[in-house]
Amino acid sequence: MRIYDIITKKKRGEELSDAEIEYVISEYTKGTIPDYQISALMMAIYFKSMTDRETATMTLAMAHSGDTVDLSEFGTLTVDKHSTGGVGDKTTLVIAPIAASLGAKLAKMSGRGLGHTGGTVDKLESFPGYDTSLSPEDFFDQVRRVGISVIGQSGNFAPADKKLYALRDVTATVDSIPLITASIMSKKLAAGSSAIVLDVKYGSGGFMKTPEDAEALANGMVEIGKRCGRRMCALITNMDIPLGYAIGNSLEVREALDVLSGKGPADLTEVCVALATEMVSLSLGMEHDAARTAVLDAISSGKALAKFAEWIEAQGGDPSYATDPSRFPRAKQVYEVKATRGGYISAMNAEEIGNASVVLGAGRLTKDDVIDHSAGIVLKKKLGDRVTEGEIIAELHTSTESKISSAERILLDAICISETAPHALPLIYKTVR
Ligand code: URA
Repeated sequence: MRIYDIITKKKRGEELSDAEIEYVISEYTKGTIPDYQISALMMAIYFKSMTDRETATMTLAMAHSGDTVDLSEFGTLTVDKHSTGGVGDKTTLVIAPIAASLGAKLAKMSGRGLGHTGGTVDKLESFPGYDTSLSPEDFFDQVRRVGISVIGQSGNFAPADKKLYALRDVTATVDSIPLITASIMSKKLAAGSSAIVLDVKYGSGGFMKTPEDAEALANGMVEIGKRCGRRMCALITNMDIPLGYAIGNSLEVREALDVLSGKGPADLTEVCVALATEMVSLSLGMEHDAARTAVLDAISSGKALAKFAEWIEAQGGDPSYATDPSRFPRAKQVYEVKATRGGYISAMNAEEIGNASVVLGAGRLTKDDVIDHSAGIVLKKKLGDRVTEGEIIAELHTSTESKISSAERILLDAICISETAPHALPLIYKTVR
């Protein structure tokens, strides 16, 4: 088999065989095919796409390119969740303890933030002492005892995706539906859970800009998961504007704790309840309505909040921060951003708002940047709200005063104010099962 012939075949829009796809993934992982030839193949796939069969074969080959997690001891109770990424997306912090408090098992590996999107692992490290790199023995033991453990990605886990993603990132081939499908689902399949709930975002802060593209991505991922014997569901949710009001690590943890205490913002609460309902329904085999009732009860009874504190403590963190969020240190500088004119907030560019929070210290521009856990943005107004000139629309939190002016400029450019009220896109566009 020759990689040159495989590139030529795909360039002509022909379908690759299973053997050809498996050859590409295994030889590239081993390092015997150079980056420039795989770049050419990725670009050919970008333009000519792949059939469902080709995408499924690529996904499985990538999932088996390294270690896989065996969660069979937990039977059908295991459930994982993946979000395609966004700004202010703290849903894992809410839905994981809800599902665990009802008996589901969450053995979860999460990522760090990069670019304008945040990462669950960085948010969890806002708790002093929280250990995101447990040994495999401690990780499994905690899932057995507490029902939940969330650690960072480590080890030789889907190495083909690690190499391919890095290459796609610099060759303008990230936004291809079959390639995103294979990338996400290879990691989810390798992570071992028997049920998977996907939160596929659409809008200015997501990878997919339109609900139709998000739906195509969701359909593909659900189909592949089912072919591989997993119980699947995907929600297509709005990331045109940030989710909730808080952006930045400890600020988002505090907002997640608000939802678990029954006093969170309406949009975040609605998405969390919908995702948690699907997780509980798939992992515990409950009818949808019964699962929703159980989720709402886990919040109102305080059971989910108690599970959150138990989880943080089991993983070395200080649980008193969960019961008394005012213990999280406040940033040294808190600056109020004021509306430059009166009217309605008619558009918010979620990606740019995420970029403003990175400037304040909440995220990384390079992998080695150090996060300021108290930094970020608290929005005071959101899409459709009426504002008067000079009214406070957001707070900027940072330890470094010199970062404020550029963050303010980015934020003001990202928020449009106009005479007429906007037409809001739906928060939950569709559910794919
Ligand atoms: N997230 C991933 O893990 N992979 C992609 O290709 C895009 C988003």
